[in-house]
Amino acid sequence: MSLEVPASQQSRCAVHPEQPAGGTCTRCGSFICADCATSVPGLGVRLYCAACAARPEVNYLEALRQRYWGRRDEWAWVVAGVTLLLCVGVAAAFAQWGLSATKQSLFPLVLLLPVPVGVAFFLGKRWARHALLPTPLVMAVAADVLYRDGRFLFFLCAIPGLFIALRIHRDARNQLFFRLPVSSGSLKLLWDLRFNNPLARQALHFGFSAVFMPLLAPVALICGAVALTRVDLKATPPIDRRGQAITGIVLGLVSPAVWGFALLPVLDRWLSSMVYK
Ligand SMILES: [Zn+2]
Ligand SMILES: [Zn+2]
Repeated sequence: MSLEVPASQQSRCAVHPEQPAGGTCTRCGSFICADCATSVPGLGVRLYCAACAARPEVNYLEALRQRYWGRRDEWAWVVAGVTLLLCVGVAAAFAQWGLSATKQSLFPLVLLLPVPVGVAFFLGKRWARHALLPTPLVMAVAADVLYRDGRFLFFLCAIPGLFIALRIHRDARNQLFFRLPVSSGSLKLLWDLRFNNPLARQALHFGFSAVFMPLLAPVALICGAVALTRVDLKATPPIDRRGQAITGIVLGLVSPAVWGFALLPVLDRWLSSMVYK
């Protein structure tokens, strides 16, 4: 970025010749006016022309979007797996009890209700994204109609399903699979979660777990140490999470010390009781 071009030189914007240029694009070097100057989140004060700011090699969020665009995410596979399990379950139920005209024997058919939604979801049909939301409730209502005695249980079972469906519906990575527009804020969060030193986050998790399970302390230490070597503040975009890596290391060091201190008297008493026996 260079904004110190003197006005007397009368440089003009490459896109808007009627506008004076306020600087040059960091990538291609063409003159840009105030309207054209575009910043990329996470890349500091660097300014680009609009065309360069949209390029995946400059805009890592755009690269992330292209990387996941139309590609199945973890949720698509989870939905496919559950759909398959339901089919196998129904097939097993009918193999065991056969098909008769009674209401109770139709009960396994309730499990087949979400199958078309699951298949369409896996194939990336957008309507299935919305249809997944009410599916647990529809199943509970259908089960209730067929089997009046267990009504409360069905709706209770539907609640976790509703929460998971809502979570899938709001997931930015899943929206990219369905080729839906995702805001740069959500893309930034997704990048942060998956590419901004995820090992440091693991180190923190293991560090906290080590407080209760001191055997995990070495794992926290190793993850924290490796994560620290991955910190690169000069990279574009910068890789950080130093705080989490250091916290993981500290917890990994403190936890065995505290446990040792607490267990030493117990161990000592146990040993001496063994000796005096
Ligand atoms: Zn440019
Ligand atoms: Zn311009």
